[in-house]
Amino acid sequence: MDLGIRGKSALVCAASKGLGRGCAMSLAREGVRLTIVARGLEALERTAAEIRAATGAGVTAVAADIATPEGRAASLAACPEPDILVNNAGGPPPGDFRDWTREDWIRAVDANMLAPIEMIKATVDGMIARGFGRIVNITSNSVKAPIEELGLSNAARSGLTGFVAGIARKTVRHNVTINNILPGQFLTDRLRTRMAVNAQAAGQSLEALLEARSRAIPAGRFGDPAEFGDLCAYVCSAQAAFMTGQNFLIDGGTYPGTY
Ligand code: NAP
Repeated sequence: MDLGIRGKSALVCAASKGLGRGCAMSLAREGVRLTIVARGLEALERTAAEIRAATGAGVTAVAADIATPEGRAASLAACPEPDILVNNAGGPPPGDFRDWTREDWIRAVDANMLAPIEMIKATVDGMIARGFGRIVNITSNSVKAPIEELGLSNAARSGLTGFVAGIARKTVRHNVTINNILPGQFLTDRLRTRMAVNAQAAGQSLEALLEARSRAIPAGRFGDPAEFGDLCAYVCSAQAAFMTGQNFLIDGGTYPGTY
Protein backbone atom coordinates (compact mmCIF):
# COMPACT_ATOMS: atom_id res chain seq x y z
CA MET A 1 0.00 0.00 0.00
CA ASP A 2 1.40 3.39 -1.00
CA LEU A 3 0.81 5.67 1.99
CA GLY A 4 0.67 8.77 -0.22
CA ILE A 5 3.24 10.83 1.74
CA ARG A 6 6.22 10.66 -0.63
CA GLY A 7 7.98 14.06 -0.67
CA LYS A 8 6.43 15.24 2.59
CA SER A 9 8.67 16.48 5.43
CA ALA A 10 8.68 15.12 8.97
CA LEU A 11 10.14 16.36 12.23
CA VAL A 12 10.67 13.33 14.47
CA CYS A 13 11.60 14.16 18.06
CA ALA A 14 13.72 11.89 20.28
CA ALA A 15 14.60 9.71 17.32
CA SER A 16 18.16 8.41 17.67
CA LYS A 17 16.98 5.21 19.38
CA GLY A 18 13.98 3.09 20.20
CA LEU A 19 10.45 4.02 19.19
CA GLY A 20 11.33 7.43 17.73
CA ARG A 21 13.98 5.79 15.54
CA GLY A 22 11.39 3.21 14.45
CA CYS A 23 9.00 5.98 13.37
CA ALA A 24 11.77 7.83 11.50
CA MET A 25 12.83 4.68 9.63
CA SER A 26 9.27 3.78 8.58
CA LEU A 27 8.51 7.33 7.40
CA ALA A 28 11.78 7.42 5.43
CA ARG A 29 10.80 4.15 3.69
CA GLU A 30 7.68 5.97 2.47
CA GLY A 31 9.85 8.68 0.87
CA VAL A 32 9.44 11.29 3.62
CA ARG A 33 12.29 13.79 4.18
CA LEU A 34 13.35 13.72 7.81
CA THR A 35 14.64 15.99 10.51
CA ILE A 36 15.51 13.88 13.53
CA VAL A 37 16.26 15.20 17.00
CA ALA A 38 18.02 13.78 20.09
CA ARG A 39 20.44 15.18 22.65
CA GLY A 40 23.41 12.90 22.03
CA LEU A 41 25.10 13.74 18.71
CA GLU A 42 26.97 10.47 18.20
CA ALA A 43 23.98 8.09 18.31
CA LEU A 44 21.90 10.62 16.35
CA GLU A 45 24.41 10.85 13.48
CA ARG A 46 24.76 7.06 13.44
CA THR A 47 20.99 6.70 13.13
CA ALA A 48 20.79 9.38 10.43
CA ALA A 49 23.45 7.53 8.42
CA GLU A 50 21.66 4.18 8.87
CA ILE A 51 18.33 5.64 7.71
CA ARG A 52 19.95 7.28 4.67
CA ALA A 53 21.70 4.01 3.77
CA ALA A 54 18.55 1.90 4.22
CA THR A 55 16.08 4.19 2.45
CA GLY A 56 17.90 6.86 0.43
CA ALA A 57 15.84 9.50 2.25
CA GLY A 58 17.22 12.95 3.09
CA VAL A 59 17.90 13.14 6.84
CA THR A 60 18.92 16.23 8.82
CA ALA A 61 20.15 15.56 12.35
CA VAL A 62 19.67 18.16 15.09
CA ALA A 63 21.33 17.60 18.47
CA ALA A 64 18.94 19.29 20.88
CA ASP A 65 16.92 18.76 24.05
CA ILE A 66 13.28 18.89 22.96
CA ALA A 67 12.20 19.54 26.57
CA THR A 68 13.79 23.02 26.48
CA PRO A 69 12.72 26.18 24.57
CA GLU A 70 16.21 26.39 23.01
CA GLY A 71 16.06 22.77 21.85
CA ARG A 72 12.64 23.26 20.29
CA ALA A 73 13.81 26.46 18.58
CA ALA A 74 16.83 24.64 17.10
CA SER A 75 14.61 21.78 15.88
CA LEU A 76 12.11 24.14 14.30
CA ALA A 77 14.88 26.22 12.71
CA ALA A 78 16.00 23.08 10.86
CA CYS A 79 12.44 22.13 9.90
CA PRO A 80 10.17 25.16 10.22
CA GLU A 81 7.21 23.78 8.26
CA PRO A 82 6.88 20.03 8.83
CA ASP A 83 4.00 18.17 7.20
CA ILE A 84 4.39 15.47 9.85
CA LEU A 85 5.33 15.94 13.49
CA VAL A 86 6.16 13.03 15.79
CA ASN A 87 6.36 14.17 19.41
CA ASN A 88 8.50 12.05 21.70
CA ALA A 89 10.95 12.43 24.60
CA GLY A 90 12.52 10.24 27.22
CA GLY A 91 10.13 9.01 29.90
CA PRO A 92 10.31 10.13 33.53
CA PRO A 93 12.06 7.89 36.08
CA PRO A 94 10.15 5.36 38.19
CA GLY A 95 9.80 5.86 41.95
CA ASP A 96 7.53 6.49 44.90
CA PHE A 97 5.42 9.66 44.74
CA ARG A 98 6.38 10.47 48.33
CA ASP A 99 9.93 11.13 47.14
CA TRP A 100 9.12 13.40 44.21
CA THR A 101 9.77 17.10 44.55
CA ARG A 102 8.12 19.94 42.65
CA GLU A 103 11.21 20.00 40.40
CA ASP A 104 10.71 16.31 39.52
CA TRP A 105 7.11 17.05 38.57
CA ILE A 106 8.08 20.10 36.49
CA ARG A 107 10.70 18.03 34.60
CA ALA A 108 8.15 15.32 33.77
CA VAL A 109 5.45 17.78 32.72
CA ASP A 110 7.98 19.78 30.65
CA ALA A 111 9.19 16.73 28.71
CA ASN A 112 6.02 14.67 28.34
CA MET A 113 3.24 17.27 28.25
CA LEU A 114 4.37 20.84 27.61
CA ALA A 115 7.06 20.07 25.00
CA PRO A 116 4.60 18.30 22.66
CA ILE A 117 2.01 21.04 23.24
CA GLU A 118 4.58 23.72 22.33
CA MET A 119 5.59 21.76 19.20
CA ILE A 120 1.95 21.44 18.15
CA LYS A 121 1.43 25.16 18.75
CA ALA A 122 4.45 26.01 16.57
CA THR A 123 3.44 23.82 13.62
CA VAL A 124 -0.31 23.24 13.45
CA ASP A 125 -1.37 26.55 11.86
CA GLY A 126 1.08 26.06 8.98
CA MET A 127 -0.31 22.56 8.43
CA ILE A 128 -3.86 23.96 8.37
CA ALA A 129 -2.84 26.66 5.87
CA ARG A 130 -1.21 24.04 3.59
CA GLY A 131 -4.18 21.62 3.90
CA PHE A 132 -2.18 18.63 5.16
CA GLY A 133 -0.79 17.69 8.55
CA ARG A 134 -0.26 14.62 10.67
CA ILE A 135 0.75 14.90 14.33
CA VAL A 136 1.52 11.77 16.33
CA ASN A 137 2.35 11.84 20.02
CA ILE A 138 4.17 8.85 21.46
CA THR A 139 2.60 8.41 24.90
CA SER A 140 2.26 5.11 26.81
CA ASN A 141 -0.06 2.27 27.70
CA SER A 142 0.07 3.86 31.17
CA VAL A 143 -2.52 6.35 29.88
CA LYS A 144 -5.06 3.48 29.73
CA ALA A 145 -3.76 1.38 32.61
CA PRO A 146 -1.51 3.28 35.04
CA ILE A 147 1.82 1.69 36.00
CA GLU A 148 2.30 2.02 39.77
CA GLU A 149 5.92 3.15 39.88
CA LEU A 150 5.56 5.47 36.87
CA GLY A 151 3.30 8.06 38.49
CA LEU A 152 5.15 10.96 36.84
CA SER A 153 4.53 9.39 33.44
CA ASN A 154 0.91 8.40 34.16
CA ALA A 155 0.07 11.98 35.12
CA ALA A 156 2.02 14.03 32.55
CA ARG A 157 0.89 11.87 29.61
CA SER A 158 -2.74 11.93 30.73
CA GLY A 159 -2.52 15.72 30.68
CA LEU A 160 -1.27 15.67 27.08
CA THR A 161 -3.97 13.16 26.12
CA GLY A 162 -6.71 15.42 27.50
CA PHE A 163 -5.30 18.43 25.64
CA VAL A 164 -5.10 16.53 22.35
CA ALA A 165 -8.69 15.30 22.71
CA GLY A 166 -9.80 18.91 22.92
CA ILE A 167 -8.03 20.23 19.81
CA ALA A 168 -7.97 17.24 17.43
CA ARG A 169 -11.59 17.81 16.39
CA LYS A 170 -10.81 21.39 15.38
CA THR A 171 -8.04 20.56 12.91
CA VAL A 172 -9.38 17.51 11.06
CA ARG A 173 -11.61 19.63 8.79
CA HIS A 174 -8.35 20.98 7.31
CA ASN A 175 -6.85 17.49 6.78
CA VAL A 176 -4.72 17.88 9.89
CA THR A 177 -5.03 14.99 12.33
CA ILE A 178 -3.63 14.65 15.85
CA ASN A 179 -3.42 11.19 17.40
CA ASN A 180 -1.55 9.37 20.15
CA ILE A 181 0.15 5.98 19.93
CA LEU A 182 0.39 4.08 23.21
CA PRO A 183 3.26 1.57 23.36
CA GLY A 184 3.13 -1.46 25.60
CA GLN A 185 6.48 -3.16 26.23
CA PHE A 186 8.98 -2.69 23.40
CA LEU A 187 12.54 -3.93 23.70
CA THR A 188 14.42 -0.61 23.71
CA ASP A 189 17.14 0.95 25.87
CA ARG A 190 14.43 2.49 28.03
CA LEU A 191 12.83 -0.90 28.75
CA ARG A 192 16.21 -2.53 29.45
CA THR A 193 17.14 0.24 31.91
CA ARG A 194 13.82 -0.04 33.74
CA MET A 195 14.04 -3.84 33.88
CA ALA A 196 17.65 -3.72 35.12
CA VAL A 197 16.45 -1.72 38.15
CA ASN A 198 13.59 -4.20 38.76
CA ALA A 199 15.93 -7.19 38.34
CA GLN A 200 18.38 -5.80 40.86
CA ALA A 201 15.58 -5.12 43.37
CA ALA A 202 14.30 -8.69 42.92
CA GLY A 203 17.79 -10.24 43.10
CA GLN A 204 17.27 -11.70 39.61
CA SER A 205 19.39 -11.56 36.47
CA LEU A 206 18.26 -9.10 33.79
CA GLU A 207 18.01 -11.94 31.23
CA ALA A 208 15.76 -14.02 33.51
CA LEU A 209 13.48 -11.06 34.17
CA LEU A 210 13.26 -10.11 30.46
CA GLU A 211 12.40 -13.71 29.60
CA ALA A 212 9.65 -13.87 32.26
CA ARG A 213 8.23 -10.45 31.28
CA SER A 214 8.13 -11.28 27.59
CA ARG A 215 6.36 -14.60 28.26
CA ALA A 216 3.72 -12.76 30.32
CA ILE A 217 2.71 -10.66 27.29
CA PRO A 218 -0.16 -12.39 25.45
CA ALA A 219 1.88 -12.17 22.21
CA GLY A 220 4.66 -14.09 24.01
CA ARG A 221 7.31 -11.49 23.16
CA PHE A 222 8.25 -7.84 23.43
CA GLY A 223 7.30 -5.44 20.66
CA ASP A 224 9.77 -4.51 17.93
CA PRO A 225 10.28 -0.73 17.40
CA ALA A 226 9.89 -1.38 13.64
CA GLU A 227 6.28 -2.53 14.27
CA PHE A 228 5.67 0.67 16.18
CA GLY A 229 7.19 2.72 13.36
CA ASP A 230 4.99 1.12 10.74
CA LEU A 231 1.85 1.94 12.74
CA CYS A 232 3.10 5.52 13.04
CA ALA A 233 3.66 5.73 9.26
CA TYR A 234 0.10 4.52 8.65
CA VAL A 235 -1.35 7.07 11.09
CA CYS A 236 0.63 9.69 9.10
CA SER A 237 -0.64 8.43 5.75
CA ALA A 238 -2.94 10.15 3.28
CA GLN A 239 -5.43 7.32 3.89
CA ALA A 240 -5.64 8.08 7.62
CA ALA A 241 -7.28 11.49 7.15
CA PHE A 242 -10.54 10.39 8.85
CA MET A 243 -8.92 9.41 12.18
CA THR A 244 -8.22 12.08 14.76
CA GLY A 245 -8.08 12.41 18.54
CA GLN A 246 -7.55 8.67 18.91
CA ASN A 247 -5.36 6.64 21.27
CA PHE A 248 -3.91 3.64 19.45
CA LEU A 249 -2.69 0.93 21.80
CA ILE A 250 0.05 -1.37 20.45
CA ASP A 251 0.87 -3.80 23.25
CA GLY A 252 0.74 -7.43 22.08
CA GLY A 253 -2.60 -7.90 23.86
CA THR A 254 -1.46 -6.79 27.32
CA TYR A 255 -4.39 -4.46 28.07
CA PRO A 256 -7.10 -6.84 29.28
CA GLY A 257 -10.21 -4.68 28.74
CA THR A 258 -12.92 -5.11 26.10
CA TYR A 259 -12.62 -1.47 24.99
P1 NAP B 1 14.84 4.93 24.31
O1 NAP B 1 15.10 3.68 23.60
O2 NAP B 1 15.54 5.22 25.59
O3 NAP B 1 15.06 6.12 23.27
C1 NAP B 1 14.80 7.43 23.66
C2 NAP B 1 15.22 8.38 22.55
O4 NAP B 1 14.79 9.69 22.90
C3 NAP B 1 16.71 8.47 22.37
O5 NAP B 1 16.97 8.71 21.00
C4 NAP B 1 17.09 9.67 23.20
O6 NAP B 1 18.34 10.21 22.79
C5 NAP B 1 15.92 10.58 22.91
N1 NAP B 1 15.61 11.59 23.92
C6 NAP B 1 15.33 11.37 25.22
N2 NAP B 1 15.06 12.52 25.84
C7 NAP B 1 15.17 13.50 24.90
C8 NAP B 1 15.03 14.90 24.93
N3 NAP B 1 14.71 15.55 26.06
N4 NAP B 1 15.21 15.61 23.79
C9 NAP B 1 15.53 14.97 22.65
N5 NAP B 1 15.68 13.65 22.55
C10 NAP B 1 15.51 12.91 23.68
O7 NAP B 1 13.27 5.07 24.71
P2 NAP B 1 11.97 4.37 24.03
O8 NAP B 1 11.75 3.07 24.67
O9 NAP B 1 12.03 4.51 22.56
O10 NAP B 1 10.83 5.33 24.62
C11 NAP B 1 10.33 6.46 23.93
C12 NAP B 1 9.17 7.02 24.75
O11 NAP B 1 8.14 6.01 24.83
C13 NAP B 1 9.56 7.35 26.19
O12 NAP B 1 8.88 8.50 26.62
C14 NAP B 1 9.08 6.13 26.96
O13 NAP B 1 8.81 6.42 28.32
C15 NAP B 1 7.83 5.78 26.19
N6 NAP B 1 7.42 4.36 26.38
C16 NAP B 1 8.27 3.36 26.01
C17 NAP B 1 7.86 2.04 26.22
C18 NAP B 1 8.75 0.87 25.84
O14 NAP B 1 8.38 -0.28 26.09
N7 NAP B 1 9.89 1.07 25.23
C19 NAP B 1 6.61 1.77 26.79
C20 NAP B 1 5.78 2.82 27.14
C21 NAP B 1 6.21 4.13 26.93
P3 NAP B 1 19.22 11.13 23.79
O15 NAP B 1 19.21 10.45 25.12
O16 NAP B 1 20.56 11.18 23.13
O17 NAP B 1 18.54 12.47 23.83
